[in-house]
Amino acid sequence: KFISLEGGEGSGKSTAMANIQNWLESQHIDYVMTREPGGTPLAEDIRNLVLSPREEIVDDMAELLMMFAARSQHISQKIEPALAQGTWVISDRFIDSTYVYQGIARGGDIAILDHLTQWVVGNCQTDATLLLDVPVEIGQKRVQQRKHSDRLDKESHLFHEKVRQGFLDRAHQNPQRIKLIDASQSLESVKQQIQQQLKALQLS
Ligand code: C5P
Repeated sequence: KFISLEGGEGSGKSTAMANIQNWLESQHIDYVMTREPGGTPLAEDIRNLVLSPREEIVDDMAELLMMFAARSQHISQKIEPALAQGTWVISDRFIDSTYVYQGIARGGDIAILDHLTQWVVGNCQTDATLLLDVPVEIGQKRVQQRKHSDRLDKESHLFHEKVRQGFLDRAHQNPQRIKLIDASQSLESVKQQIQQQLKALQLS
C-alpha cells in the first residue's frame, strides 16, 4: 500500500507519522517512512536547495521543477522498489502538496501540473491520502512554538488560508482517495481517526 500524509503548517504531520509508524510496527507490516520533497540523498539535496533561505528570489517555475526533479528520483529509487517488494510506503507529503502549494497557493498552471504529474508519477498513485485539516489560526499557533523555520514558512495568513482551502477542495474532488482527519481535535482523537483509516486500508 502507498499512503501519503498531507496538511498545512502546524497540522501535526510529524506526530501523525509517528502514530502511523507505531501502528505499522504493532501489525508487523513491512514499511518505509519517507517524505517529500526528499526521500533519497539526491532528493534531500534538492529539498535543501528549495527550502534554504536565500537572498535571491526563487522563480516559481524553478521551484516547481525542483519539486518534480526530487519526486522523479524519489519514485524511481525508493517508492517503486519498495512497493514491488510488497512493502508499505508512507510519504509525508506527495502530489497533493504540489497542487496546493505550487498550483493553488502560488498560482501555478494546473494544466502544467497535470502534465508533469502524468509524466513523472504515471501510475505510481497513492492508495490513500490522509489529510490533516486544521484551522489556520490553530496551525500557526503550533508552528510558532517550534524552533526552526525555513524559507517557505514565512508566508501570509491569506497564503495559509489558500493552502487549507486548496487541500479541502482536493478532498472534495477525490473523495475515495483522500480521507479527511480533523486535526484540531486532541492528540488521542487524531490518533484514533488515523488508526481507523489504516485498519480500513489493511482490509481493502
Ligand atoms: O512538510 P514540511 O512542513 O516539512 O514542508 C517543508 C516546507 O516546504 C513547508 O514550508 C511547506 O509549506 C513547503 N512545501 C511547499 N511545496 C511543496 C511541499 C512543501 O511549499 N510541494
